Amino acid sequence: MQNRLRQLPQIQRLLESPPAVLLIHEFGHDDVTQAIRDRLQEIRTAIIAGDDAAEGLDPHSGFFHDIAVRLSGKRDITLTSVINATGILIHTNLGRARLAPEAIKAVQDVAENYSTLELDLETGHRGSRQDHVAAQICALTGAEAAMVVNNGAAAIMASLTALASGKQVVISRGELVEIGGSFRMPDIILQSGAELKEVGTTNKTHLSDYEMAITEDTGLLLKSHTSNYKIVGFTSSPGRRDLSDLSNRHRLPLVEDLGSGVLIDLASYGLPDEPVISDVLASGVDLVTFSGDKLLGGPQAGIIAGKRALIERILKHPIARAVRIDKLSLSALCATLDLYRAPNRPVERIPVLQALSETLETVKKRAGRLAAQIGALDGLDTQLVHTVARAGAGSLPQQDLPSFAVALTCSDCSAQELSRRLRAGSMPVIGRISQDRLLLDARTVADAEVSQVAQMVLSAMRA
Ligand SMILES: *Cc1c(COP(=O)(O)O)cnc(C)c1O
Repeated sequence: MQNRLRQLPQIQRLLESPPAVLLIHEFGHDDVTQAIRDRLQEIRTAIIAGDDAAEGLDPHSGFFHDIAVRLSGKRDITLTSVINATGILIHTNLGRARLAPEAIKAVQDVAENYSTLELDLETGHRGSRQDHVAAQICALTGAEAAMVVNNGAAAIMASLTALASGKQVVISRGELVEIGGSFRMPDIILQSGAELKEVGTTNKTHLSDYEMAITEDTGLLLKSHTSNYKIVGFTSSPGRRDLSDLSNRHRLPLVEDLGSGVLIDLASYGLPDEPVISDVLASGVDLVTFSGDKLLGGPQAGIIAGKRALIERILKHPIARAVRIDKLSLSALCATLDLYRAPNRPVERIPVLQALSETLETVKKRAGRLAAQIGALDGLDTQLVHTVARAGAGSLPQQDLPSFAVALTCSDCSAQELSRRLRAGSMPVIGRISQDRLLLDARTVADAEVSQVAQMVLSAMRA
């Protein structure tokens, strides 16, 4: 053993060998040195353990091939596009909303060039990055003032920190939400330096519960959209107008975390009634927060809109700088918001809204095309099935969106295995498993992706 250990070459000698020189040229000195060091250590460990496999670990044969594979593997970019066939439109794990072409173009423009991010072209002086979107948001929501931050969680965090730190935040027990990714309202309130003052019960909270909780220590009243659950049955909570009257009487801000929130009434497209932001503000809520990449259909962003005096306090607070939005998201948000302005028809231009408002007939046709392109394959049963798609990411809770999927059953592999093969393809396709079948839901697949999905199913069956 000692002998074999002693025979291992020195790192320096390996680094000077011709194959190493080539690798250094491609991957850099540091990474190659580290990879060689790691590999030698593995061989050493194997020899010491008396591992038979150590026999095959000759540092001369195949050694550099192994290093090269390792280095290129390390270089693989893991954040890549996939096809969403889950039927969940706004899927946080898959990057939520796809951007409209106009938004993509805006991002590219700002990424490629210097920009007016914080420059006022007229005066030549420093401008605010907030100016690019504030007016658009105000026009679309009727708010007096608006600002944007990094994401929805940051929007509520910044609002509470600037407006209620050291004070109590009064919120109904029925609205202490937890949404994915460890966003829990009680924790956010605590982190903002405020104190949680929960009122009412899980199912019923009365105006008097809020009223009795208000003291001189109260900082604000908070409402939260119960994004991913519904309390049904024997329930009640005061309306926004009553809460607004109460908060006005006590000169306290009423803040509402809308989660998704929509800029336009989706009910007019046969879609359920999500609180429309302008209605919420008109009913007396002083400040609302919502996400840019949920039903709005833009990039990751958090929007705060409402009373000017409140927005100014948040903008002045140091937290605003810590959660500020980056230029790429900002440009995508500007372009997306622009698509909401007349004469544009956002439902036709913004991918999330397009997919949401598509008729069942259209979805069924697409599913049919997919099934036809997959065709008859040995060992694969393909069926068109009626499914239920979802908006996802805490939007339109419990709201079923009727949809169609191609259900795949593989005769000699499980649905899990088929799903794994589709994830491993050159264009990963993400479906969902139901009753031992793999469903490829057509509501979230774009027309242009249909033939690619079919191709990927064919290669998965050959695998
Ligand atoms: C989604 C959501 C958030 C968080 O928004 P992100 O953009 O994911 O940070 C906060 N509150 C509610 C009610 C939500 O639904």
